[in-house]
Amino acid sequence: MTTVEANVKEVQHFIDGGYAASSDNQTFEVKNPATQEVIAVVAEATEEDVEKVCKAARLAFDSGPWRTMAVAERCAKIRRMADIILERKEEIARLEALDVGKPYSHAFTAEVPRAAHNLKFFADFVEQRGGETYPMEDAFLNYTRYEPVGVAGLITPWNAPFMLTTWKLGPALAAGNTIVIKPAEMTPLSVSLLGEIAKEAGIPDGVVNVVHGKGSVVGTAVTKNTDVDLISFTGSTATGKAIMRNGADSLKKFSFELGGKAANIVFEDADLEKAIPVSIQAAFLNSGQVCLAGSRILVQRSILDTFIEKFKAAAEALVVGDPQAEETKMGPLVSEEHFNKVKSYLDIAKEEGAQLVTGGSTPDLAAHIQNGYYLQPTVYVHDNPKARICQEEIFGPVVTIIPFDTEEEALQIANDTDYGLNGVVWTENLKRAHRISHGVRAGTIWVNCWFVRDLRAPFGGFKKSGIGREGGHHSLEFFTEAKNICIALN
Ligand code: NAD
Repeated sequence: MTTVEANVKEVQHFIDGGYAASSDNQTFEVKNPATQEVIAVVAEATEEDVEKVCKAARLAFDSGPWRTMAVAERCAKIRRMADIILERKEEIARLEALDVGKPYSHAFTAEVPRAAHNLKFFADFVEQRGGETYPMEDAFLNYTRYEPVGVAGLITPWNAPFMLTTWKLGPALAAGNTIVIKPAEMTPLSVSLLGEIAKEAGIPDGVVNVVHGKGSVVGTAVTKNTDVDLISFTGSTATGKAIMRNGADSLKKFSFELGGKAANIVFEDADLEKAIPVSIQAAFLNSGQVCLAGSRILVQRSILDTFIEKFKAAAEALVVGDPQAEETKMGPLVSEEHFNKVKSYLDIAKEEGAQLVTGGSTPDLAAHIQNGYYLQPTVYVHDNPKARICQEEIFGPVVTIIPFDTEEEALQIANDTDYGLNGVVWTENLKRAHRISHGVRAGTIWVNCWFVRDLRAPFGGFKKSGIGREGGHHSLEFFTEAKNICIALN
């Protein structure tokens, strides 16, 4: 087994090309969720610090070297950032495992490479993108430019901090914006490196800034700041609403990727050899702390008993343990507060009369992680889709199997939620696959798979799962202002 020395790290803001403490030297502690040991002391910004960071980004934008740089040069620097991330892949993956509690192997093989790809993809995309001209009478030339919006505030969550921040950073930078990143206060370690990585890649000072602190203070101050032109936010629906209210006075542009409660619909003709392992992933990847989690598993009644038996066995076979160990498939929850919130749903499930299939308590753990925020993969069966455990985003390793009889009923249950981020369908019937994909009101539908992403494709939610889309040209529409120019040639 591998362990990382829990040396306490000192994390500072990154402002205008250099690290900086807070103006009042305030800090807060970050703990390893697998052990409760303090792993970092992080600078906690004051409102004055936020002003300073946003001003640095404003001046870097207005003074021009980044937004006026030749596109090829700008994109080469972003690609260099991607290369540096890959060179530092092990370090970043270790930090992610230490800070979030996610299995190192997943961070190393999936999330950090994807983070590098997020940057490279948008650098290539912008460089290869053509323009638009409109044929008019010979006397006019009419064309459209896509210009950067200005200062982009990127407010990101704790569940996949590095990957999700680069998912915004790539298109924002490639479009020529300057950046203020506000990482989640629970997991700031990996994201805190992005300023120095940008600097090493040759990106001018002031273009990539990182400011740390609580969402209610620092996130609010970034949202209200008049030097910031847009907010790209990934996090909870409740925070999305607060950001919209706080950004209203300065009339910012918003992109919101919010919560989910996806239906994973398993029909009687599904190939269970594939549906079971992928549904297990969809339920328990990152301890279920995934916005796309398939947390409502709708199973056709004719295969209910078989499905439950196989799903239970697969859930019980998951290796829960030290995030740094190669064999670990599931780590702890991210924090004590979140652990208590997730555990409260076990009481709610009991009160609501849900039937426990497996889990519901602390797994057997090695001595050094006995204090971690661990919960077993937990599975319920409930025939009331209106129950709170079937409606609310638990964001933990807790899923509910809901039986259904007909296609119509499956669709009705799938859509009976405030959320609409994604859905999953398991069937070998092509026509049914299309019918259900069209019927589920969500931004992404996966048929006989889950979490397969092409970065050109739109990503985002219906209903309370978000506003706007990210991915390919959808991201660029958000991070640019379209300007039409019409020139009289005579
Ligand atoms: P959160 O909303 O609590 O926090 C997200 C970020 O917002 C953090 O950086 C936090 O400091 C900041 N914040 C909090 N209050 C703020 C305020 N008033 N003003 C400005 N910023 C504020 O979310 P979380 O708990 O970190 O993340 C979990 C949530 O994120 C879940 O609901 C999950 O579904 C969602 N999520 C969505 C996606 C997606 O792509 N749709 C991806 C990952 C996570």
